[in-house]
Amino acid sequence: MKILVINSGSSSLKYQLFDMDSGAVLAKGGCERIGAGGAVTHKVPGRENYTMEVDLPSHDRALEIVFALLTDSEHGVIGSIEEIDAVGHRVAHGGEKYKQSSLVDPELINYLETIVPINPLHGPPAIKGMRACLRLLPKTPQVAVFDTSFYSEMEDFRYIYALPYEFYTEDKIRRYGFHGTSHRYVSQKTAEILGKDIKDLKMITCHLGNGSSITAVDGGVAIDTSMGFTPQEGIPMGTRSGSVDPTIIPYIMKKKGLDPDEMADILNKKSGLLGITGISNDFRNCLAEAQKGNDRAALALKILSNGIKKHIGAYAAEMNGLDVLVFTAGIGENQCEIRRMVCENMNWLGIEIDNEKNENFTRGIPFDISGANARVKVLIVPTDEEYMIALDTQRLVK
Ligand code: ADP
Repeated sequence: MKILVINSGSSSLKYQLFDMDSGAVLAKGGCERIGAGGAVTHKVPGRENYTMEVDLPSHDRALEIVFALLTDSEHGVIGSIEEIDAVGHRVAHGGEKYKQSSLVDPELINYLETIVPINPLHGPPAIKGMRACLRLLPKTPQVAVFDTSFYSEMEDFRYIYALPYEFYTEDKIRRYGFHGTSHRYVSQKTAEILGKDIKDLKMITCHLGNGSSITAVDGGVAIDTSMGFTPQEGIPMGTRSGSVDPTIIPYIMKKKGLDPDEMADILNKKSGLLGITGISNDFRNCLAEAQKGNDRAALALKILSNGIKKHIGAYAAEMNGLDVLVFTAGIGENQCEIRRMVCENMNWLGIEIDNEKNENFTRGIPFDISGANARVKVLIVPTDEEYMIALDTQRLVK
């Protein structure tokens, strides 16, 4: 079975074609600058990467180009698009209705339209991607896989904010949680690696990338998570602030005469590592600067690692224990320094890492960095959201 996974952003569209029988990625790539020029990168394992500049006025056009590349005599990997058995779509937000991955139909798309007000950045491009696929592949089953659905079993006292209750009932303000597909993938993979039933494990999964979130997974169920009503809440990220005292926002808006969009832009795009250092949103640059003696870069790393540490402590308390701590995504998988800072002085909780293993880990594969006497396993587990989407899609269309 061949499954195409689509991740549609406001000006980008990423794709991966899987052969589910072997688990291999046949081709992958991305379209960029949709609506403002256009470029496509197409990668086929064992061949040279192919890039092209092409006018991409819409997501529809981007998908047409992707289909042309997948079936091209030189760059293609399939004979015709009919060979694609199903399409899986990454959808950030399923609202309160979609608690599981679901087949795409008019009802699903109509519902996603109704929740665009609470998902203004990611909703419209995901809908565009689904509509384009339905037009170009009308007979092929399509599945929506939601980042929020992993949190559908979270209990109300963990998702209701201490605000007037009508904000929840009338305005749908609650914690939804994001990155769920990644947290679900790494938690399941971790249980598999340890040879344990996930039902018997208390885990904390740290997805640390440009966007970062931490999730408590008790017996396979995501019971709490750091991102909230939007992906803004939680720990500091590349350019997002994470949690701040909410009163800072109206205070600084009044003081500097900012409107809500300008304030949202600062919280989303000019805060986090970039905001603190004034240099970069990229962890690598911040670390390099800190090592050169830049105090603000060193401060940013301390703020970040302390934020992660606090969530680990809180989630261990909520779960009444901890068996496994998992690091994933760009920073979690590749940066030993952040793992060292987070795990330092955590032996009260049973967390102790082997510094040698932490520094000399093998990239791109699951790696155990737990110390010899640690009560809690500490693992690096590379995430693979696309494969998780492909697996859900396969399950649903079968
Ligand atoms: P996104 O959330 O956009 O998917 P990633 O998961 O790729 O982002 O994470 C981006 C962050 O991870 C950056 O801060 C970068 O410094 C770090 N990172 C990514 N890849 C590497 C690498 N190979 N080595 C070190 N750091 C990396």
